[in-house]
Amino acid sequence: TPAIRPLIAGNWKMHGTSASLGELEAIGEGFAAAAGDGADGLICVPATLISRASGVLGSTPVSVGGQDCHAAESGAHTGDIAAEMLADCGASHVIVGHSERRTDHRESDADVAAKAQAAWRAGVVAIICLGETRRQREAGETLAVLSRQVAGSVPAEATAENAVIAYEPVWAIGTGLTPTTKDVAEAHAHLRAELEKKIGEEAKRTRLLYGGSVKPANARELLSILNVDGALIGGASLKAADFLGISEAT
Ligand code: PEP
Repeated sequence: TPAIRPLIAGNWKMHGTSASLGELEAIGEGFAAAAGDGADGLICVPATLISRASGVLGSTPVSVGGQDCHAAESGAHTGDIAAEMLADCGASHVIVGHSERRTDHRESDADVAAKAQAAWRAGVVAIICLGETRRQREAGETLAVLSRQVAGSVPAEATAENAVIAYEPVWAIGTGLTPTTKDVAEAHAHLRAELEKKIGEEAKRTRLLYGGSVKPANARELLSILNVDGALIGGASLKAADFLGISEAT
């Protein structure tokens, strides 16, 4: 299996205004200082900050992403944002299918797949999120849920270049809880195998991120697990010191 360069990705969710640009600057400087080391960096900011974030991070190794896109290129969709618009502002990546979108906006696997296709139409990398709920885990359904989500949310056109898969157990997001090392290893091995059924050999090079309460204190252990090729980080991506602390664990 080829070595995969890790991706350390931040998800700012609905946090951040122009007052937060200093944190981005510090993240960019931190990655620039560690040039060539360990991992690629990415921060997915609110859409309102993408242009300015691109200005701040443009000369650093850290990329800028959005957090969602509409499936259409344009149209009568008040309040929505097309992948082409994100790209136009400087975004190279977009998160699709985050559990908060699946819950708050009732997004289905088919919706998520359509959004990934939209990202590719615009030349943007899709970070496709999936993961089981607490109830599903307690019912022993985790691996079956992941199989279903890969089948439904990941289009067959996914490649190691245009897609990243993020395993985010819903019960681990923002809770301080994380699965055991064994459970993460099992989920990621399963995801790799399911992805291979869908996209063949490409699956071996495709990044599989772990997300859910990643902090500097647990990053080294989580990032050392087989088939974990980086992290998607919510709360701990808002402060440069935390985000850089996690990236140093690669
Ligand atoms: C997320 O929102 O993708 C996430 C993993 O959040 P947190 O790191 O805060 O659990």
